[in-house]
Amino acid sequence: MGGRRRARPAARRHHPGARGAGPLRRRRRHRRLNRRAQWALVADCNDAGEAGVRVLDGIEVDILEDGGLDADRDLLAPLAVVVASVHSKLRMDAPAMTARLLRAVRDPAVDILGHCTGRMVTGRGRPPSSFDARRVFAACAEAGTAVEINARPERLDPPDELLAVAVDAGCLFSIDTDAHAPGQLDWAANGVRKAVACGVDPERVVTNWPLERLLAWTRAKGA
Ligand SMILES: [Zn+2]
Repeated sequence: MGGRRRARPAARRHHPGARGAGPLRRRRRHRRLNRRAQWALVADCNDAGEAGVRVLDGIEVDILEDGGLDADRDLLAPLAVVVASVHSKLRMDAPAMTARLLRAVRDPAVDILGHCTGRMVTGRGRPPSSFDARRVFAACAEAGTAVEINARPERLDPPDELLAVAVDAGCLFSIDTDAHAPGQLDWAANGVRKAVACGVDPERVVTNWPLERLLAWTRAKGA
């Protein structure tokens, strides 16, 4: 391992979907300013070198119903990592959800497809979304978009049978904790166990790559 610098953890900020009309533009501007302040903090943290790791700036952006992204292009362009995820209308019929995901994973701004089925496996639970996994994962492989292995205990997404389809398709993977609080980065072990159980090649896991390789991949995808 020597001096290899690891890229994780990425600082990832949810980009809440726009809901309702009202003073939408003002709210969006407010959020933009908040995010810019956060990213400035990330830059300061990296400059100070106090964490001993490089913190990457990034965002989790909503995939809209038509597969577009709920974010301005100029906002996404400078970021190291863009995760795109479905957080609404998870019960669309399979053809519509397939088209939605295909458009999103082919978007050059998108590096990672987050929690692809949206299922919840704890509490009251939530069934996975329906879509043509072979087509979506084939598109991920072709576009070089990584499939997230979400290690959050409530999610553990994708389910193993879908993860196997993504392995067969030749996808890249990103093991993410979906952490929202201190201590939750430990959940990465859940994702590693899942990857091992499903035969994921460690070389295909972008979060296992040295920093320079990871950044070269996200830059090559571009926004
Ligand atoms: Zn999410």
